[in-house]
Amino acid sequence: MSPRRSSDQSRLTVVSGPSGVGKGTVVAALRRRYPDVWVSVSATTRPPRPGERHGVQYFFTSDADFAAMAEEGALLEWANFAGYRYGTPREPVLSTLADGLPALLEIELQGARQIRAAMPEAQLVFLTSPSWAELERRLVQRGTEPADVIAARLAQARVELAARGEFDVVVCNDDVGRAAEELVQLVRHPRQRPG
Ligand code: 5GP
Repeated sequence: MSPRRSSDQSRLTVVSGPSGVGKGTVVAALRRRYPDVWVSVSATTRPPRPGERHGVQYFFTSDADFAAMAEEGALLEWANFAGYRYGTPREPVLSTLADGLPALLEIELQGARQIRAAMPEAQLVFLTSPSWAELERRLVQRGTEPADVIAARLAQARVELAARGEFDVVVCNDDVGRAAEELVQLVRHPRQRPG
C-alpha cells in the first residue's frame, strides 16, 4: 500500500453509535455550522421521513438499484438495518480523500466494522448517550416509526452499545452543539492510530 493511500485513509472519520443516540442530529448540526466539512450522503432503501429530501439526507433508492450498486462495488460499505439497506457511495469518499480533504461518514456498527477492515487508518468515533434511559426515551419519542420498528432498534442499540471498545474515540451526546464541536475537531485533526 502506497504512503499516499495510507494518508488518504487517515483523513476519513466514521461516526457510529446506537440508533437514537442522535448521530443524525449531531451531524446535521455539524453540517449547519461547518458547511465546508464534507459529509457523505448514503444510499438507502428506507422511504423518506417527512422533511427528508433526496440527495440531502439520503439518496432514496429502490431495492433493485441498491442491489445493483452493491453488486458493482459502487458502495464502500453497506448493511441491513431494521428492515432496510444503507450504504456509502464509494467514489465521492475516495475522491474527497484524494483531494486532500477530510471526510465524515455517519453509519451504523456493521458498516463501521467494514470500514475498519477495508481502511484500517480511518478514525472511528463512537457517539454515546448520557444513559440507557435517555437513549430509550429518544427512540420512543421520535414517534415516526411503528412499535415493532422501535423494538428492533432498541435491541440493535443494546448490541451497538457493547461495541464501544472497538472505537478510537468516544464522544458523549450530552448536548448536540457541544458534541458537534467535539466531532468537528476530530474530523479536522484525526487522532493518530497507534502502529
Ligand atoms: P435512519 O433510518 O434513522 O436514518 O438510519 C438508521 C441507521 O442507519 C443509523 O444508525 C444510521 O447511522 C445508519 N446509516 C445511515 N447511512 C448508512 C450507511 O451508508 N451505511 C451504514 N452501514 N449505515 C448507515
